[in-house]
Amino acid sequence: MRRKLAAGNWKMNGTKAALSELEALRDAHPDPAVDILICPPATLLSPAQSLVGNSPIALGGQDCHAKTDGAHTGDISAPMLVDAGATAVILGHSERREDHEEESHDIRIKARTAQAAGLMTVICLGESLDQREAQDTLDIIGAQLSLSVPDSSTGLNLVVAYEPIWAIGTGLTPTPDQIGEVHDFIRSRLERRFGPGVGRSVRLLYGGSVKAANAEEIFAISNVDGALVGGASLTEAQFSPIIKALEAAV
Ligand code: PEP
Repeated sequence: MRRKLAAGNWKMNGTKAALSELEALRDAHPDPAVDILICPPATLLSPAQSLVGNSPIALGGQDCHAKTDGAHTGDISAPMLVDAGATAVILGHSERREDHEEESHDIRIKARTAQAAGLMTVICLGESLDQREAQDTLDIIGAQLSLSVPDSSTGLNLVVAYEPIWAIGTGLTPTPDQIGEVHDFIRSRLERRFGPGVGRSVRLLYGGSVKAANAEEIFAISNVDGALVGGASLTEAQFSPIIKALEAAV
């Protein structure tokens, strides 16, 4: 049985004032039936840890360097994330792939380092609108999956998030059939590569304009084990109904 996961990606949003939302989320979900992960900006990890360290809410980073330390100005390493209270890290988000020209092989090396540091890696995959319209979606997802996911992955340290680029922050979402097709494909590829034990235990998240209004429909799709949520994870008022919809799907 895969435990469902509601993950929030705050991106480059939030100063200390935003911690009141985390506090409200903690108080609203003292005993959740699903896992909850919030990935705030790295500057907020330590104070966030003070707030939710003794609660079921886990914290994650939004990226890490491929190396554990050294002369890499401005970067953050996996052991630093652990030190600040993170138990997970998002890797290969399409905004990182686009803004920082990250390629799948870079993500695989980061993921290996992060997993070795004890972090659960949430590896993001997704096609552009042009690629979907050219009917290249499964080829793109298959290539990103095989190149981004390291051999060190297990059901505990790997989560895969399918995030069509054209659905992120746009209000557009794929149809349930489109989401189901990609998730079933990712599941079969993971089973083929890692065997049925590991392949079936990796959680698959959908991400891209998930909100209260569409969460129930998305969580009913096969092989959707939760969501990676951007905009709607920034406030307790918007994220809590998504968590509740996921709990109802358990
Ligand atoms: C994301 O960036 O991971 C994301 C899914 O964003 P949004 O929910 O805002 O579309």
